[in-house]
Amino acid sequence: MANIRKISEKKDFPLKTSSLLLDTLAQLRTDIPKNGKNTLQKRAFAKYQTNEVIFPLIDLNSSLNKAYWSSFHCSNVLLQRDKTITGKYCNNRWCIVCNRIRTAKLINGYLPVIRSEIKKPMFVTLTIPNVPGDELRAVIGDMVKTIRTITDLFRNRRNFKLKGIRKVECTYNGRNLDYHPHLHLLVDGYQVGQELINAWLLHYPGADKRAQDIRPADNDSLIELFKYSTKLTTESKKKKTAVPPEALDIIFKALYKKRVFQPIGLTKMSITEDIEELQSQQIEELKSDIEVWVWEHELKDWLNGSGEFLTEYNINNIENHDKLRMCSNNRSDIRSVKTEF
Ligand SMILES: [Zn+2]
Repeated sequence: MANIRKISEKKDFPLKTSSLLLDTLAQLRTDIPKNGKNTLQKRAFAKYQTNEVIFPLIDLNSSLNKAYWSSFHCSNVLLQRDKTITGKYCNNRWCIVCNRIRTAKLINGYLPVIRSEIKKPMFVTLTIPNVPGDELRAVIGDMVKTIRTITDLFRNRRNFKLKGIRKVECTYNGRNLDYHPHLHLLVDGYQVGQELINAWLLHYPGADKRAQDIRPADNDSLIELFKYSTKLTTESKKKKTAVPPEALDIIFKALYKKRVFQPIGLTKMSITEDIEELQSQQIEELKSDIEVWVWEHELKDWLNGSGEFLTEYNINNIENHDKLRMCSNNRSDIRSVKTEF
């Protein structure tokens, strides 16, 4: 609890952040996507979940500490002008808020090309035996180098063009306390997938043949491919538990600044995994206004100076109603709620 309180105290003073946002509002793009209020509610849930993951990561004082802090500040302040909501986003891989935006961007960018260029989409999973945390980053680097060598060989064949996407993932095994780095590839046709598996096993003779996988991809599994995350839970004795922050930190460090998605042989593919720092959405249900909304973690929503909820995501929660009444119209009262951890 003491650590969380420390985080609240360190939080940027909202007005400083909002004045920065005001300065940049004029430069915003004009093609602002239109969304419903449920988009904001989903964002509120994602923001809440991200903070719950981030608090213990910040307490680790890891080499990613500064980056973890930037996720704590991600979309902390939302600025409303008319019906448009603008926020500043951290772009980090572990941020669930940013991942939702990133997944939509990747699906919009990749899916039409995949549908037009890949006739029989197949999912291939390539793995190696699990590794300890201190080897993870080097091992992932080696796996990426290996798959690049293999796919380059395939691409240079005559009368054959390898097309698809490659994605790096890593999960944590809570029972054996080790890490499971693996690659997912989306390729065209069963035969190509099988040949990739054979080539992989030649490079990694210690890898278990039965652990490699190939199966047809349907629309749902295609979308699943673009859900960009490290699993935050681990299954042990058929019970799901949260991955310890120390293990998450090792995975995030291993993948830090590494490219996770890589298109192979697809035309006009230059979609980056990065999202824009400033994002705006037009929310039709909002009443036109100029307003500053500030995230209040324990209320699971952004509040304005009058204590009104932006998304009403958690409005059915009686406890929060009580807190809202306590807040009344006074910002200092809201702040006192925040320190009630
Ligand atoms: Zn973020």
